[in-house]
Amino acid sequence: MTTRLLMKLMEIPGTSGNEGDIRKAILREIRKHVKDVRVDNFGNIIAHRKGKGPKMLLTSHMDEIGLITKAVTEKGNIRCSSIGGIEPISLIGQRVHMKARRGMIHGIVTTPEISDDEEVEEIPKIKDLIVETGMSKKELTNRGVSVGAFLNLEQKSCMFGRKISGKALDDRVGCYILLELARKLRKSSADIYFVFTVQEEIGLYGSKTSLFNISPDLAIVVDVTNSDDAKEHPHEVSKQVGKGPTITIKDEEMMSDICLDKYLMKIAKGKKLPLQMDVSDEGTTDALSIAVSKGGIPTTVVGVPVRNMHTTMGIASLKDIGRAIIILEEFLRKPPRKCIP
Ligand SMILES: [Zn+2]
Repeated sequence: MTTRLLMKLMEIPGTSGNEGDIRKAILREIRKHVKDVRVDNFGNIIAHRKGKGPKMLLTSHMDEIGLITKAVTEKGNIRCSSIGGIEPISLIGQRVHMKARRGMIHGIVTTPEISDDEEVEEIPKIKDLIVETGMSKKELTNRGVSVGAFLNLEQKSCMFGRKISGKALDDRVGCYILLELARKLRKSSADIYFVFTVQEEIGLYGSKTSLFNISPDLAIVVDVTNSDDAKEHPHEVSKQVGKGPTITIKDEEMMSDICLDKYLMKIAKGKKLPLQMDVSDEGTTDALSIAVSKGGIPTTVVGVPVRNMHTTMGIASLKDIGRAIIILEEFLRKPPRKCIP
């Protein structure tokens, strides 16, 4: 496992709707392993490893949560709107950057109270945050920063022990897993589409358009899920970082395909690898839009648990990522024909 690639993918900006940089980086990597690679009208990367047997679709989303400029105040502070689900409190003290004329502009997320060292009496909402850039409104305008400018979250990736931390683990972990699988299956005869989608965080949009020209027999979405191991009571804990990859059986809006889930469990058991079952009340993934496309596609979600998921300081286990790759590789080499209607 080349964790350097994962760390690099995490650091590249790619807020939903502004995925240009991360798309370029993934294109460079996937072209090393798959010949037939294209970008659809919406911005998704579609890489097809032509082969025999069932058409299998693997997806991960390349976009990440972030901020966008709503207004620039006279003092040159930026007021923002969020892109994707973010807890405003987790952004305070974090660095962001904007692409501007003559290079990058950096900013710090804070609130007027924190900036003036006053007591914070209420939990801030997104509208209460300000991004201090150290520049005047005039300077910002001259550099091309105005309403609509994207603010990318910024954080260096780091390793501690067998864990990795940083921003955008959601879902650069998935992108990394797909790239690893494409590399490992370079000589396989299986028919696999590796699709890297855009605009998942704001409405699962990329996966919808990506299916226009693909009719897969089955699909696996590779995306992270939140861990719950910070809870005190053991009965509240079902997904722990380091205790194995996850299969999402149910989320807020979707039921995954039982046949695919059972087959994945069988593979994990055969390889003596731990697997955790994910049943959650909140959130969903690209699997929702894929499962209900084209008359219905058997679909499930394989992922790894992440702590602090929608923040710039997520934590995941490299062991879980490695185990997910082993299970998915076996799945792709021996697809479950009985699960195809
Ligand atoms: Zn995700």
